[in-house]
Amino acid sequence: MKAPDFDYVKPDSIARVHALMAEYGDDARILAGGQSLITSLNLRLSEPRLLIDIGGLEELRGIALVGDTLRIGALTRHCEIETSPLVAKHAPLMAQAAPHIGHRAIRNRGTLGGSIAHADPSAEWPACVVALDASIVLLGKGGERRVRADDFFLDLYTTARAADEIVTAVEIPAATASMRYAFDELARRRGDFAIVGMFLAAQMQGAKIERARLVYFGAGSTPIRAREAEKALAGRAADDAAIAAAQAALSRELHPGADLYHSAETKQHLANVLTRRLLLRLGA
Ligand SMILES: Cc1cc2nc3c(=O)[nH]c(=O)nc-3n(C[C@H](O)[C@H](O)[C@H](O)COP(=O)(O)OP(=O)(O)OC[C@H]3O[C@@H](n4cnc5c(N)ncnc54)[C@H](O)[C@@H]3O)c2cc1C
Repeated sequence: MKAPDFDYVKPDSIARVHALMAEYGDDARILAGGQSLITSLNLRLSEPRLLIDIGGLEELRGIALVGDTLRIGALTRHCEIETSPLVAKHAPLMAQAAPHIGHRAIRNRGTLGGSIAHADPSAEWPACVVALDASIVLLGKGGERRVRADDFFLDLYTTARAADEIVTAVEIPAATASMRYAFDELARRRGDFAIVGMFLAAQMQGAKIERARLVYFGAGSTPIRAREAEKALAGRAADDAAIAAAQAALSRELHPGADLYHSAETKQHLANVLTRRLLLRLGA
């Protein structure tokens, strides 16, 4: 199938983007890397009159350490995150996850902001930024605001972004020496969307977990934080007993839905497998 007819514009300022968004309302879509949007147009899931290509806005690009925060511009591509020394040092969880996003051609075009705005519940970046306690920077006609990733992903493809706002950046607290991170996902083939994936960010005190964030994707309509499992781990080393307690809590709180190919039970089982696998890495 081919996309419906649309007009295309490539503004050279954010002010112009906002003006066009105000003029066209729901008839306009922002185009970043196009790796999700163009597919949805070709499938006629969306039929906008205007595509607003933000690719010319240099101020939305780049990776910088600002104090103890890593700021990544919305237009930064997955491949740039994958190879950035700043990301490797200050947000190593993102460096681990990036190679799992689709294939090289997709990572060469797709952007961080596009993935965050799209909010696919099986995508890596939404769950990753929740695990990292990042903030999403939004700019609307009324000015800039920041929303914690915890509060940003509201439902399937639905976020706290208002209709007149664009995602301009993601701000991530830089990694500290006492933080440990782990990531893994289970997919039918490398490059496929994950059946289930998991991010773990743990503040350690010696061998003990002071507090941890356990975030699952492909397991619900948004990234899912397993808060009961997090509580079960607090103050404990990641030994067999603590892992079993986290898995028991997870079984009570996760409730993944089935997808076209996998039952809810399979997903729950895989989430438990990942939980053990990642927690064991903390002790390694
Ligand atoms: C074959 C294939 C496999 C893929 N596999 C994976 C995978 O394994 N994991 C994964 O995470 N992703 C995967 N993707 C999706 C890919 O990561 C996309 O790049 C990403 O989801 C969207 O980023 P984009 O820059 O391409 O956004 P676009 O497609 O341009 O836009 C996506 C949506 O976000 C909106 N948008 C974009 N940027 C902004 C902004 N700055 N502010 C406000 N709204 C904005 C658009 O209007 C649109 O609604 C895959 C895609 C394909 C085609």
